[in-house]
Order: sequence, then C-alpha cells, then structure tokens
Amino acid sequence: MIDNLASNIWIFDYDLTLYGEDEREVLDSLDKRISLFVQNELGVSLDKASLIRKKYWKEYGTTLAGLRKEHQSDPQEFFDFIHTNDALIYPRRNSQKRDLIKSLKGHRVIFTNARKDWVEAGLLSMGIADLFEVIIDLEAVQWEGKPNIEAYKTAQELLIQEYGSQKVLSSSILYLEDSLENLIQAKKMNWTTIHVNSKGVLAKEIDYSLPNLLSLSMHLKNTFI
Ligand SMILES: [Mg+2]
Repeated sequence: MIDNLASNIWIFDYDLTLYGEDEREVLDSLDKRISLFVQNELGVSLDKASLIRKKYWKEYGTTLAGLRKEHQSDPQEFFDFIHTNDALIYPRRNSQKRDLIKSLKGHRVIFTNARKDWVEAGLLSMGIADLFEVIIDLEAVQWEGKPNIEAYKTAQELLIQEYGSQKVLSSSILYLEDSLENLIQAKKMNWTTIHVNSKGVLAKEIDYSLPNLLSLSMHLKNTFI
C-alpha cells in the first residue's frame, strides 16, 4: 500500500499515463503530425517518415532525440509544427480521475518528454490543470529527455529549486509512468516507481503495477498526517 502523505511528491508522466490506452487516438493524432514533420524535414515519403519516426523513438527514446542527433533538427521548430493543427485530439474529462488526483496529498508535478503547451492543452481539456503545481517539460531538461538519467537529475534539481532541498530529500517521490524503460531509470534516483497501463508486465525494478491510473485508488492508504 502507498501512504498518501502530505510530504509526498507525486510525479506524473503525461502521455499514456494521465490518459490511458483507451484514448490512444490522442497520441495517434500527434504521431501523425510527427510523421509529417519527418516527411518535410528529410524529404521522404509519408510511409518512410512513419518508419523513421518509430525507429528513432525506439533507438533514442523520442523521435525528436533521433532527429536532433542525426539531422540537427531544431526542437522549437519541431514542436511548433506538431502542436499546430486543428486535427489534434485531446483527452476527455473524467470526474473520477479528477477526484483521484485531487485526493493525492502533497505536491503534484508532471515530468514529460513533450513540450509544455501540449500538456497544458491536454490538462485543460481534462479539467485538471489546477491540480498540478509544476510541469517539467523537455525544454526544461535541455531537450535531452527520459530515459537519459541526466533528465531525471535535472528534474530533481528543479524540484529542489521549487520546494527546497530539505523537503525534496526527505519526501517520498512517487513516479507514475507508462514506459518501463523510463521507470527503470527512475529507480536509480530512488523514486518509488508505479507502472501505469502496465498490461501486467512485472519487472523487479518496479514497485507497483497498475492496469490504469484509476486503479491507483485501490493502492492508497489514507492517513491523516
Ligand atoms: Mg508516456
């Protein structure tokens, strides 16, 4: 069971963590834009661009990381392009989700490989923007995102700047994320790892494994401290 303490720091990944597999169309709408960016940037067909998008995501953690490494693509141009489109889809409101997140005591922050504007638009769409204090996005970690360990160190530094070192070092940091690889790295930071949308995969590095975000409520031990 997880103690729901006022001293906790809850860190959420955004995509496929704060909304689930059942809203896959949200990420698909963004992936279409990423493929179009790759098509324009590299001058290849859309089919080829889609393959390159997946290849870079697999090899470098994100498509952007591969584009930067192999083609010196500009991250702001990349995000300006992929976030500008009327066909983008955002996650739906869900009152149970709002109640659950609101019930989590302590600080709530987001740590994402996306750029902030994508996350902010999604949080507004879900009606939960007011429940988070800080968004640590890819720009905040100098565009070198998860699973690069430096990104986690920078994220923790930013939390120290926000809340003070005493607070951060004495807190339980609980990290919710859909990517197993990203969680395994988080364990190296001594964060408590919660695998969301896990499909039942068990890994020894992972502390908790949940089929979806809402099932977190069954693991919470409510305390009055
Ligand atoms: Mg994710």
